[in-house]
Amino acid sequence: MGGKFRGRLFFFESLPYKVDPKSGIVDYDKLEERAVDFRPKILICGGSSYPREWDYVRFRQIADKCGAVLMCDMAQISGLIAAKTCLANFLQESVSPFEYCDIVTSTNHKSLRGPRGGIIFYRKGSKPKKRGLLLNQGDGSDRYNFEEKINFAVFPSLQGGPHNNHIAALAIALKQVATPEYKAYMQQVKKKARALASALLDKNCRLVTGGTDNHLLLWDLRNLGLTGKSFEKVCEICHITLNKIAIFDEKGMITPGGVRIATPAMMSRGCLESDFEIIADFLFRAAQIANLVQRQKASLMGLQSNKDIVELRTRVENFATQFALPGLDEEYMTGDEVGKIGCEHGYHMDCIKQWLQLKNWCPICKASVEPRETS
Ligand SMILES: *Cc1c(COP(=O)(O)O)cnc(C)c1O
Repeated sequence: MGGKFRGRLFFFESLPYKVDPKSGIVDYDKLEERAVDFRPKILICGGSSYPREWDYVRFRQIADKCGAVLMCDMAQISGLIAAKTCLANFLQESVSPFEYCDIVTSTNHKSLRGPRGGIIFYRKGSKPKKRGLLLNQGDGSDRYNFEEKINFAVFPSLQGGPHNNHIAALAIALKQVATPEYKAYMQQVKKKARALASALLDKNCRLVTGGTDNHLLLWDLRNLGLTGKSFEKVCEICHITLNKIAIFDEKGMITPGGVRIATPAMMSRGCLESDFEIIADFLFRAAQIANLVQRQKASLMGLQSNKDIVELRTRVENFATQFALPGLDEEYMTGDEVGKIGCEHGYHMDCIKQWLQLKNWCPICKASVEPRETS
């Protein structure tokens, strides 16, 4: 939405559903049983660390059975979904929630690669008739009435004026998403996620659901004796960005023993499958180090200079600096805002200043360089 939350609160009664503790997959039978008892007004599918496809057909059946509006929060996977819906269907990228859901929401800043913010889609017009019965989806009317309610909930309820800069940035992102290049990128994102998953599985790492259908992995660290927190910390010091996250254990209890890792960012930098195998090595090494650190009860303060960490961090730096940095690509090398940096290559001055704060060499020719304004 791009706006500040203005302090007006609405209260909802919510009822969560769970994954099957053994398989890690949504337990649709239990979900149905609970939904039929609870009779929610709205049933929501979508999640922030679910590595598998959502069964939209089943969600639709359950929503119809209890007269609920079906909403999908596709924040994580909107890029995967867009890559399919924008282009030919015969190359199945991702099953689309748009065919089954009444409302679809997304963030713009995840796999969609847009500016921070959100987007809401809703159905308009007449409701479909099924077996001669009108599905009541929300109310008794035969037409959808989401438009007015959603618009009002956004403005004036939650948001001030429109943020035209964000809207423009989103338009640019969506234009990129509609290109064949983006579709190819997304296919690679998924392929690389599978490559990363199998490389970790080869090292006997435990992935929730045993793998992935999308761009992310959920890694259960408990058999390595780790919490997500300590692993995340060690990774961060080694310049590896991932998120600690709670996972369900065998008894269905929430434990802090996981992390989620996704491939879009490193894919944008041009990593190949073999690079993701190297990334798997880094991750596994970080897990070993985190385990040592945890056992030695070493203070987190001392980690920066820990010998193993310094070694891994150096390997990560040498690896990561081989790849292009979006914003420093050659396509930016023409135009008014370009500054030469000593070698023959030129960049946007802001980008190159940031880069040179870290490195004093050109990311293309590796010549040692100084920033210099052209105008
Ligand atoms: C990220 C995310 C959101 C929005 O969170 P932000 O903190 O605004 O980025 C909403 N739903 C899901 C499923 C998400 O993954």
